[in-house]
Amino acid sequence: MRLDLHVHTRERSACGKATEEAMIKAAIAVGLDGLVFTDHDRLAPPTRLCELNAQYAPFHIFGGIEISLEEGEHVLVLGLQAPELQNQRWTYPELYGFIRRREGFLALNHPFRYRTSLRIDITRHPPDAIELYSHNTPLAAEDQIRQLASHLGLRVLANSDAHQTDRLGDYYNQLATQPANDRELVEALRQGRYSCHAPKRTATPGWAGAALTHIRQRLKLQPSPPSF
Ligand SMILES: [Zn+2]
Ligand SMILES: [Zn+2]
Repeated sequence: MRLDLHVHTRERSACGKATEEAMIKAAIAVGLDGLVFTDHDRLAPPTRLCELNAQYAPFHIFGGIEISLEEGEHVLVLGLQAPELQNQRWTYPELYGFIRRREGFLALNHPFRYRTSLRIDITRHPPDAIELYSHNTPLAAEDQIRQLASHLGLRVLANSDAHQTDRLGDYYNQLATQPANDRELVEALRQGRYSCHAPKRTATPGWAGAALTHIRQRLKLQPSPPSF
């Protein structure tokens, strides 16, 4: 299942440019099998998710939220429909305790977006994952994010953080299973039954690709894997 875990909509995000249904149709058009609505400090109502799932099956829409922490970082929460998550001024330690007590899934979104250091202590409170790829994750931070994830033993994610339809499909996670609900999705992510994909990032067309192939042959290097 090709799944984008970080998508905004006009219904609940002030910066969202496209409606829920426009996002779903665009995701289907680029070959995704599902997405998660993660609007800023707002959950999608469960009844609305049921309606959309019935309408667009077998495409699946999961519920989530992107929380703007007091410290300034953004985190993704999956697997919880707790109304308290919304529109609260959460500090990271408070939110961390809340999520852990309820067995939700927590990921740090687009780290190092505006600065070279983090404003929360993820060594003390490690999330379940860190977003490696997104349209708001700086390319220059990729090595730093990989090192941080490796150092803390955290999984990475590839999501669009799309606020408009043309941003879908560039980054996604391919799950080995087809989770039927939010709890099964959290289980699949926790168990690492997925791989991250960034098709546009790994494509090296034209002369650049030929030159790289030549260099790799000279150095007896293996081609870059399309995913990790
Ligand atoms: Zn964000
Ligand atoms: Zn976002």
